[in-house]
Amino acid sequence: MSGETLIKPDLQFVERVVAAGGDTVKKCYQCDTCSVVCNLTPDQKPFPRKEMLQTQWGLKEVLNDPDIWLCHQCSDCTVYCPRGAKPGEVLGVLRKMCIEKYATPPVLAKAVGDPKFLPLLIAFPMVLLMLALKLTGHWGIPEGTIVYSHFFPTLLVDFIFVPTFFFAVAVLAKGVMAFWNDINSANPWRVKVEGNLVGNLIATIKDILFHNRFRQCEVTYKRSTNHLFLVFGFIFLLVVTTWGFLNEWVLHHESPYFLLSPIKLLAMAGTASLLYGIWNILKERQANAEKAGYGSYFDWFLIYLIFAVGATGLLSWVFRLVHIPILAYPTYFLHLTAIFMLFFYAPYTKLAHIVYRTVAMLQARMSGRGF
Ligand code: SF4
Ligand code: SF4
Repeated sequence: MSGETLIKPDLQFVERVVAAGGDTVKKCYQCDTCSVVCNLTPDQKPFPRKEMLQTQWGLKEVLNDPDIWLCHQCSDCTVYCPRGAKPGEVLGVLRKMCIEKYATPPVLAKAVGDPKFLPLLIAFPMVLLMLALKLTGHWGIPEGTIVYSHFFPTLLVDFIFVPTFFFAVAVLAKGVMAFWNDINSANPWRVKVEGNLVGNLIATIKDILFHNRFRQCEVTYKRSTNHLFLVFGFIFLLVVTTWGFLNEWVLHHESPYFLLSPIKLLAMAGTASLLYGIWNILKERQANAEKAGYGSYFDWFLIYLIFAVGATGLLSWVFRLVHIPILAYPTYFLHLTAIFMLFFYAPYTKLAHIVYRTVAMLQARMSGRGF
């Protein structure tokens, strides 16, 4: 019979959603209030009601639905849902599962999403960095003025962190290309994608950079402002890292830089912005826990990791200024550990949102879904 659709429910998929924190999905009775109150959903084939239904039915193809990435988890829908089904949180769980689906190797994605592997995830970079220090004969606290490159030589830092960065980029690129193919081919929500790819990509990045859509949310509006601080903190620190790299390898300038040098000032502004943003996100999540949900381990892993990067960076600087080597060098070691974790695990953490969301928003823009 033409027009029939064969539905293949996957009960294990439903169990995985429930285990990952989406247990409330079963409460949904399809009233559609969530899609009506959501300020971000397109008029045609709106979310999140359809995703709630697909998840209840065990249709794992929902992970190929780009709409799960158009949601910014503002929780407007969660607040108004008459059944307490928390659609905002369920979509968050689906995004986590989508990241796991496209990540390589999957075992690492599973480990990052599971709290019992946390000690192992921390131990791995620590052992690696200790081994690097031992093997190059730099184990121990150097005498005299605190200079971090005397403890952990810059060449060694580059030798470890440059491949780590490119590993993360390669894993993300592989995942996101597979994701792009899936959302544009065999999914039931396929739409016609056409137009200028580069122009649309620039418009999408601008949209993300200034949080234009995120700022349309109501219940947790402040989250978008805090998120902006975080994003610009990252951008500043990225510029500082690139600047430092060029200074060292192209201009052959020695670090550390003097206190009021432009690179130092930018680093301070970046760290302050990062810490301010993440601190407010932390507070805001706790304050809104009842109406918007407390967030999952997946959310908190990244929040605490970013906090660790900012706090250890700031403390390394302070301990160097007041000259306490016994605290400065171990804190710097922890700072390197946190940065390694941030980069190496990026394709498996919530940080991967940046690329998957960009691709989904690009697809939505190119298919004219209300953008
Ligand atoms: S998630 Fe809640 S608001 Fe949305 S359709 Fe289900 S019951 Fe209604
Ligand atoms: S959490 Fe916000 S953006 Fe996401 S579906 Fe609900 S109302 Fe829409």
